[in-house]
Amino acid sequence: MLVSAKEMLEKAVAGHYAIGAFNLNNLEWTKSVLAAAQEANAPVIVQVSEGAGKYMAGFKNVADIVRNVMEYQNITVPVALHLDHGTYEGALKCIEAGFSSIMFDGSALPIEENLAKTKELAELCASKGISLEAEVGAIGGEEDGVVGMGECADPDECKKIADLGITMLAAGIGNIHGVYPEGWPGLRFDVLEAIKAKTGDMPLVLHGGSGIPDEMVQQAVRMGVAKVNVNTECQLVFAAATREYIEAGKDQKGKGFDPRKLLAPGAAAIKAKVLEKIYLFGSNDKA
Ligand SMILES: [Zn+2]
Repeated sequence: MLVSAKEMLEKAVAGHYAIGAFNLNNLEWTKSVLAAAQEANAPVIVQVSEGAGKYMAGFKNVADIVRNVMEYQNITVPVALHLDHGTYEGALKCIEAGFSSIMFDGSALPIEENLAKTKELAELCASKGISLEAEVGAIGGEEDGVVGMGECADPDECKKIADLGITMLAAGIGNIHGVYPEGWPGLRFDVLEAIKAKTGDMPLVLHGGSGIPDEMVQQAVRMGVAKVNVNTECQLVFAAATREYIEAGKDQKGKGFDPRKLLAPGAAAIKAKVLEKIYLFGSNDKA
């Protein structure tokens, strides 16, 4: 059964650890992430972007795959299925498809419109027992080939959106999506502290968790980050393991071309990476 992320995040805030939120891309990702969470006895958030939802043949299919893999693999740890960076329309579709958690990313909208739409979705999600993540201030990252150095949210805007009845808040503290650029100055703990001071026990979400030095992630978790998103790192280890298999010529030996063999090293690499992150965030044995 899929659960809202509310309870696991509240426990994480109280216990000063963070829940890993891992983006899914296909069946290998789903099996590997869920197996790792079960092995570590960790509550987990699995999430898809709208693009990944399309790639996986729709949100309903994503929800079915996650539920079926959970049943097949005897997954007993709490699992929330979350929409990552959703539009307003995408959020409604995922609620319909049976997701247990939603992110509405209105950060590109004027703040008043972001607040209004977030409030509307907060009421809808609350009525259905679904957790809701909101975002203020864009999270930096590669856009049209230009990589920014990370943006920071306004703590007063964070307070306004946190008061709308949301479950968790994504706010930029210098973090970036994708691979971090040369010369990145690091997370802005002063901004995190200011946001935390305004938002109290609201679980904060760190996006772009791939490539931030471990000690910076742990410092952010100690300061109130309760959900850390991991996407790029799993993609990188999957690609590297698959490359190694092919470059070693293993696909040309025997039945090495069988996709169940060809994709196995990549799937194992995802599982190992997810386990590593769960232990880094401290959510192991918290199920
Ligand atoms: Zn993000």
